[in-house]
Order: sequence, then structure tokens, then C-alpha cells
Amino acid sequence: MFMHNKRLQYTVRVAEPNPRLATMMLEQFGGADGELSAAMRYFTQGLAEDDAGRKDMLLDIATEELSHLEVIGSIVAMLNKGVKAQLAEGLMEEAELYRTIGASGVSAKESLLFGGGPALIDSAGVPWTGAYVDSRSEPTVDLRSNIAAESRAKIVYERLINITDDPGIKEALGFLMTREIAHQKSFEKALYAIEDNFPVGKLPGLEKYANIYVNTSQGEGDMTGSWNSGAQWDRIDDLTQTMPIDGGAGTATVDLDHSDAKVLDKLALRTLSNPAVNPTTGVDLGAGPGAGRTTEADFGGAASIAEAPAMGEANAPT
Ligand code: MN
Ligand code: MN
Repeated sequence: MFMHNKRLQYTVRVAEPNPRLATMMLEQFGGADGELSAAMRYFTQGLAEDDAGRKDMLLDIATEELSHLEVIGSIVAMLNKGVKAQLAEGLMEEAELYRTIGASGVSAKESLLFGGGPALIDSAGVPWTGAYVDSRSEPTVDLRSNIAAESRAKIVYERLINITDDPGIKEALGFLMTREIAHQKSFEKALYAIEDNFPVGKLPGLEKYANIYVNTSQGEGDMTGSWNSGAQWDRIDDLTQTMPIDGGAGTATVDLDHSDAKVLDKLALRTLSNPAVNPTTGVDLGAGPGAGRTTEADFGGAASIAEAPAMGEANAPT
């Protein structure tokens, strides 16, 4: 069960209203790497988890992320306090109110539709979606994804910190950013607490392809490093060796039953192309330059298309 404590996890002190900044902060409220995404990611993973230690950790972190959602949502609410009141009461001069709302961002959705409340949208007004959660219910997969998700959240906080000079907001965002670093460490510890964690899943992978590096982009700029060269790697520079790499014919085949094969023959015959014909094209469009007019004669005697009369000018007096 959930319980609510009226105090925030971190104190929110906003110096003054700023609807434009509020819209930007929404990125971490209802955005792809925001706190709702984080909370839902770990909450749903925790419900399905069979390992007691991971289940406990996932539900702890999920609940903390909801507390972060509360902090960032409170920042949005404080930044929009002025707009919310002015829109609701309609006491401001129309022009002044128009200017205030217009300054709130790329769209007025946050002010007009949501009335300045923290909406579950990102900084561009795109609604939050469960598609931001990419869990696969395999801990060696999900923990890696969680580490990446925490890294993404950290870097978005860093960018938000860089765009505001409000010391109270900077401080609260610094706290939220730092907690994502701590979560990243917990997820990494949990991943390596699974002793067989690579490769992910149960199947080991095919031995003969597991250490091949294929140099498919060749030419100036080719580089070597531990990621593609050295004792671990069987490096392939001669790409003919990989066409195909299995030593087979490199074709795609399927065994069809008699009735499918017969229909397929009919289809092939009906759509057969004749390489011997050179059909005139563009007739439906009036056979203009786009239809292949390239010779001098085609341009009515002009030496190039540049000197040919422009469309609509052909009959103009000179
Ligand atoms: Mn968080
Ligand atoms: Mn986190």
C-alpha cells in the first residue's frame, strides 16, 4: 500500500514565477526520461520480480521516484502560480495576459488547457505514454536499461540546471540529479550481484560469431582500438568473407506447397517487366522538363534549360 507524507523529499524554494521555465521543467515531470517514467518503470518491474532483494530495491526506488515527481511537479506549480491566478480571475489587461501566456513556451497548452497545473506532458506538450517504459521482465536486461535510464535522467537535470539562475531551483534539481547517480549505482550493484549476467538471458550465443568484428565501413578514418582489434577479436576486413558469413549460398529460400507455388507463378507472370521497351513517361503531367526533356530541340532552340522560356512566360511579349 502507499501512504503519503505531506512534506516533500526536498524543500522547493522558487524565487519568482516563470511560466517559460515551468514548461521546460515539465520535461522531467511527464517527459520520456522524467520522474513518472522512472516511477512506473521500477514499480512495474518490482511487481513482477521474484528475487526478494531486487523486489525490495525496485519498490524502494519506485516510491522515491514518485517523491521526485512530487518535487519537480511542485516546482512547475510554483513557477506557474502567477499565470494560474491571472488566467482564472481575468483581472489582468488582455494584452498583458496575452503576453504572459505567449511567453510560456512553444504552445499555450500548458496555460490554456491545463491552467498552469503540472500536466503529464513533456516540455513540448506531448502527453506521457507507457511506451516510455521498456521493461522486458529479465533482470539482466532491465537492470542495464535502468542504468541507462538513470543516466538519461541525470543529463536532462544537468541541462535544466544550466538554464536557470534561480538558486532554489538549482539546489532542488541538484538534489534530484544526484539521486539518479545513486540509483544508477544501486542498479549496477544489483546487476553484478547476478553472477552470470552476460550475455543477457540463458542462451550463450553461437561461439564462432561471438568474437568477430566486421569492418564494414572502410576507407580513410578507419581506426583500431580495444573495441575492434587485439587478441579477443577475429577481425574481418575482407568483406567477401561475410557474404555470407555462414559459408552457405547467401540466398533466401522457402519450400512452397503446390497451390502456393502455382499462384506465385501467376503473380510473377502478371507483373513481369520487359527490359527491351523504353516507354514514354510523364504523359499524365504534360511531359515537362521533369519527364526527361534534355535536348536543345526539347527547349525550343534554347541552348540550355536556363535559357528556355519559363513556364507561363512563353507567350509573353518581348
Ligand atoms: Mn528521480
Ligand atoms: Mn532515479
